[in-house]
Amino acid sequence: MILDASVDKLSKIGPKTKFLLEKLEVYTVEDLLYYFPFRFDDFTNVKKIAEAKLEDVVTVKATIISADNVFTRNGKRITTAKIQDETGKMDVIWFNQHYIKSSLTLGEEFNFSGKVQDKKLIAPEFEPAYKTMNTGSLVPVYFETAGITSKLIRSKVTEALDRVSGLEEFLPKEILESNEFPQIKEGIKKMHFPKDIEERKVARDRFAYEELFLELLQVENRKYEWQKLFLAPSIDIESHKDPLAKFIDDLPFMLTESQQTSLQQIYKQMTEKHPMNLLLEGDVGSGKTVVAVCAAYLAHLNKYKTLYLAPTEILAEQHFETFKKFLGKNDLNIKLLTGSKKEGLDTYDIIIGTHAILHHKDPFEDVGLVIIDEQHRFGVQQRARLIEMSAKGDQKPHMLTMTATPIPRTLALTLYGDLTIAKIDAVPNKEKKITTKVVSDKERQKVYEWIRNKEEPTFIVCPLIEESESETLENVKSAQKEFKELSEGIFKNIPTGLLHGKMKPVEKSEIIEKFRAGEIKVLISTPVIEVGVDIPEATIMVIESAERYGLASLHQLRGRVGRGKKEAYCFVFMSNFNRKAYERLKYLESVDKGIELAEIDLRLRGEGDIFGTQQHGIKKLRVASYNDISLLEKVKVDAQEYYPKLENFPALKQKLNKINKSVVNN
Ligand code: ADP
Ligand code: MG
Repeated sequence: MILDASVDKLSKIGPKTKFLLEKLEVYTVEDLLYYFPFRFDDFTNVKKIAEAKLEDVVTVKATIISADNVFTRNGKRITTAKIQDETGKMDVIWFNQHYIKSSLTLGEEFNFSGKVQDKKLIAPEFEPAYKTMNTGSLVPVYFETAGITSKLIRSKVTEALDRVSGLEEFLPKEILESNEFPQIKEGIKKMHFPKDIEERKVARDRFAYEELFLELLQVENRKYEWQKLFLAPSIDIESHKDPLAKFIDDLPFMLTESQQTSLQQIYKQMTEKHPMNLLLEGDVGSGKTVVAVCAAYLAHLNKYKTLYLAPTEILAEQHFETFKKFLGKNDLNIKLLTGSKKEGLDTYDIIIGTHAILHHKDPFEDVGLVIIDEQHRFGVQQRARLIEMSAKGDQKPHMLTMTATPIPRTLALTLYGDLTIAKIDAVPNKEKKITTKVVSDKERQKVYEWIRNKEEPTFIVCPLIEESESETLENVKSAQKEFKELSEGIFKNIPTGLLHGKMKPVEKSEIIEKFRAGEIKVLISTPVIEVGVDIPEATIMVIESAERYGLASLHQLRGRVGRGKKEAYCFVFMSNFNRKAYERLKYLESVDKGIELAEIDLRLRGEGDIFGTQQHGIKKLRVASYNDISLLEKVKVDAQEYYPKLENFPALKQKLNKINKSVVNN
């Protein structure tokens, strides 16, 4: 059986099991082998029955002398058995699993592994004594889904290890040797069925390394393509100096120093022979949009078009207005392309749009610059598609991606190693910091009253029910509920509004305009909707169920307020009080820099939260952790060493090609 065979080529996997496995992202035999357990039950404590009764978790080898299904008086279904070895007898019990009885063959010897309570074995794992997969050892426990048990995964992994071919080593021999890593097949075996924890640890080290190594080789590959293979649209600055300077002079404000520095970096990269691949990082409100406008203007002066991809319709519309405001008087033809607004695209200089751009039928001609706002909201594939749609042979447009999510230094050096990173580190007009308070349930009512008396534009961001890139029904429902409660309760006499992603775009714009104009004072919204929305007048932000977000995301959320001149406030509510989360959230009160908060998150919670709750371009790691800085740095060095000599490592090269192919096809 080949590694790429579909899982249903294994025995007894029908369409239903196949479907369930797919939910766990297990499609092929290889996926299954890489579906590693997240913990182990330690059943290595083998005892005789006489001793077992005094122990906690044990494995006993014993013969079944009786087995029965019974209903208890209160209607519970239990299965009981009596087992025996040369030292004595013991009762065994299972709950709600009457089907178990049929596998309990009387007179046969079995291994039972489980917990002892009141001298009984409670719901143990068991199997005939001649097999030792699930009992008597370290037994792997997997993330399960309804219908897929750890037991099933164990048996399928065992079968796959038996039958699979082509599980060939692809890590260079020198790397295996210098790190004392096991070979791939042996390693996979040890990941699932280690003899002891030490063996598992060694195997884990290998797969953590492997995972990062493949990831960082891809980074090297992207860097190579951009900087060596692709050609850039040719952009000249010298001959356009005057209009550029005039344009910047005419802006309604002075660019901050770091806006200027970033812009110079961008201009310089845009004149290079190979396309720019630059990530502009700056806190919310730091003024990234206007920098993007200047870049688009430079492209325009060189007769190139610009595509601007925004994550939501509201944002696309907002940027559309901003671009018109700044560039309209220079006679640029700016078009909007969203799901609900499709203007004729026969002529244009700049297109601003949402995902709808990606679904455009024809390729775009003469595109010199592609801008992706809130880049973590788009996957690698979507970015690649946008580039493909605007490429001409080897010529690819310059790419400017922007994010408010701060990127910890180690990740900047490793995972984002193919990007040039420019930073805007000051927020214009921000003299005061946003006063932030983590509010206990006792004080909640007081805070609402305070807001009611204040009567200033207030955002209330509703709890995130499901993490998702797009709005889920659950998120909408929770916002609707909150809206009803608040608008009919404490805020009865104040104009309130509701905003969520399932509303029609016109309704959304209407609500936002009303909020902007002060006709709505309290705006209740889902968390997905508001990224990047610029309403300088808003001064108060309430975040519900804040414990569900990472600190950096919370920082982004609160950045919605305090963009104007007035004092701004952020109240952080928790739906479930727990000490640890409370202490984590407390950092928001004293720390005002997104990057510091991201690093605190990385320390306290691991990488899961750095990139917020939304979809992001980088891969979730299965074995390694972005937290393991020394491993990241070491692997980075190795990836840089091996990438140029990949030709000498055909197995590794083939593995990389395979990964790249699956990225494009997905
Ligand atoms: P973000 O970086 O979060 O995308 P925006 O580009 O939306 O921030 O900018 C936030 C607000 O700050 C906008 O209203 C914008 O016009 C304003 N702004 C940008 N740069 C400056 C500046 N140098 N001085 C004053 N206001 C600015
Ligand atoms: Mg923005």
